[in-house]
Amino acid sequence: MVEQIADGVWNLGSQDFNFYALEQGGKLTLIDAGLRRDWGRMLRGLDEIGHGIEGIDAVLLTHAHVDHVGVAERTRVEAGARVYVHDEDEPFAAGRERMGRPSGSFSFGLFMLKAAAVMAVRSGPRYPVVRDLTALSDGETIDVPGRPIVHHTPGHTPGSCVFHLPDRGLLFSGDTLVTRSMVTGRRGPASGLNSDDDQAEASLAVVERLDGRTLLPGHGAPWRGSPAEAVAELRRARADR
Ligand SMILES: [Zn+2]
Ligand SMILES: [Zn+2]
Repeated sequence: MVEQIADGVWNLGSQDFNFYALEQGGKLTLIDAGLRRDWGRMLRGLDEIGHGIEGIDAVLLTHAHVDHVGVAERTRVEAGARVYVHDEDEPFAAGRERMGRPSGSFSFGLFMLKAAAVMAVRSGPRYPVVRDLTALSDGETIDVPGRPIVHHTPGHTPGSCVFHLPDRGLLFSGDTLVTRSMVTGRRGPASGLNSDDDQAEASLAVVERLDGRTLLPGHGAPWRGSPAEAVAELRRARADR
């Protein structure tokens, strides 16, 4: 069953690895594109919400990690959709460069989970690279269904972005702010495996200034509350540790 999160918004992913369909005027924007193996899951999900693959006009990538770009190229080809990613992650999504190793310290107890996540990030694209990309820049309103506004939130990756729909009270936060940590498995607001922790921290200040009632992360359940409350919760959880 596809989870409907808000009017015209569904999670087509698995909640461990989210990606979303956003509907406006009978057309869809995908926010992220899951894992390569998610193609069948996506088609079933689209069918449930009354769409075919041709209903997808655009794919917006929050960043170019393997678990967010999976079916982007196939959707581009089969739906004739345009794929968007921030300038600074474009070389990774296009397969011209490899993402560096994420920072952070690793304890043995969580080794397996982390190792899997790190391997996924380190080993370069395990997705078909996207052959035609449109670059996003900070502050732009994207002319696709839903008309999200891009905010560049570097740190998780150089080109990480969040997508804001102030009129609907929604913020797609990618891995800039997740609600299930891929590092610890912990639930609640968290940050991910970052390419630059200091930059990621600074980007939380961008997130907390945005209005919204629902935050839709790359990993974990939707957060019902404002982005500022989610960031405050993350900071509280860190202080308690
Ligand atoms: Zn990521
Ligand atoms: Zn991710």
